[in-house]
Amino acid sequence: MTANETEAVDETQEPGTELVSGYGSSPGVATGPVRIVEDIDEADRIDEGDVIVTEMTAPDMVPAMKRSAGIVTDEGGMTSHAAIVSRELGVPAIVGCGEATAVLADGQRITLDGQKGTVVVPDADAASTAEEAVADADPAGESPDPTAGGAPTTATEVKVNVSIPDAAQRAADTGADGVGLLRLEHILLSTSKTPEKYVADHGEDAFVEEISEEIRKVADAFYPRPVRARTLDAPTDELAELEGGEDEPHEHNPMLGYRGIRRSLKEPEMVKLELRAFKRLHDMGYDNVEVMFPLPNDAEDVRRARELMDEVGIDREEHDWGAMIETPASIRAIDEIIEEGIDFVALGTNDIVQFMLAVDRNNAMVADRFDDFHPTILEAMAEVIEACNEHDVDTTITGQSGSHPDMAKFLVEKGISSLSSNIDAVDEVRRVVARAERKLLLDAARESLDDVEPRID
Ligand code: PEP
Ligand code: MG
Repeated sequence: MTANETEAVDETQEPGTELVSGYGSSPGVATGPVRIVEDIDEADRIDEGDVIVTEMTAPDMVPAMKRSAGIVTDEGGMTSHAAIVSRELGVPAIVGCGEATAVLADGQRITLDGQKGTVVVPDADAASTAEEAVADADPAGESPDPTAGGAPTTATEVKVNVSIPDAAQRAADTGADGVGLLRLEHILLSTSKTPEKYVADHGEDAFVEEISEEIRKVADAFYPRPVRARTLDAPTDELAELEGGEDEPHEHNPMLGYRGIRRSLKEPEMVKLELRAFKRLHDMGYDNVEVMFPLPNDAEDVRRARELMDEVGIDREEHDWGAMIETPASIRAIDEIIEEGIDFVALGTNDIVQFMLAVDRNNAMVADRFDDFHPTILEAMAEVIEACNEHDVDTTITGQSGSHPDMAKFLVEKGISSLSSNIDAVDEVRRVVARAERKLLLDAARESLDDVEPRID
């Protein structure tokens, strides 16, 4: 489609007039025609350079998201599907706008700023074709050169989060020290079928192969840097959207419900297929692939997961494995969890904040209460890091706040082993980490000089 075919411009509105606003969730500025997507079937209407405006994106919209110049959603917070995926694709996005699908009209040209979180009437001379709009938005852009300007080497590792294997090369090109979190659910959900349905249609071996081949893309892009891949953590409401989803239980609070390790431990045969995918990769020589379990509450959850790894023959001596720390209970049980033999923990602040502050992470109504810097959260993270450091267990942060410079500084001061951030934040986090580490060294040096008698030679 060319811009002239269906674009509508409201001549009555001054350029720069704000139309809607929300949470800037993927940086960049894009100008293009609105395409309202009410149903996934309509995602085919998205052409290069269109701006998707929808209630909330779904896993099978990813190809359309890739083609788009920008994304605007009514619902969702900074850790919603739209936010995570658009960041990895490098497509500017705004989430939690409330009423974008009602306020904006199909074909209307808009400019969105994924940093500020605003949608405005474009300048008259803003890119007038879809192609130019794409170039303006620079969705994928050039991969940042990690050595440009002399990227500092830091003692604290700076890793990157990956959800979409197609973004693996872009992520690897940041020069990150590895993948701190590869979410398996985006891989599984992109098959458009629930895992059960996939297995019913194609068989167990095909399922194992499908997952391992997707993880392999990331393992290849990063080799020999480590890739921590996490077993499935998909809430039932997301699974319900897929083929086979009619069999999913209906839950009032999916985020508090049947997801992560609690589902895996109830359906061991399913998670064992996921674990077989890891084993397959290890057997192929991918010694950089590590297993991570989401959402345990206590040592028993971790022990049972470990036993499943043993059942499928994963060699824990050879391959590191670990657990996400994401619930208040797991924070309190950190010493016992460590005793189960984990090599690392990942602080899942998206869930820690949700559960400690009782703020639904997907509810835009309370998004302003989602505070990663709440003193309770900071204290909890510091406690986990201290306990892990006492036992030589590696710590990392994989939640959205791991991309925030102030959080990076705080966690370096508390002794975290690594941070895992969004692709677009790696460079800045690395710089902040380097500065924080130097400051710690300088402070220590000054302190030791305090004991020395002042003397001018
Ligand atoms: C988290 O909870 O911080 C996390 C990284 O996991 P997810 O966002 O996938 O729940
Ligand atoms: Mg989580």
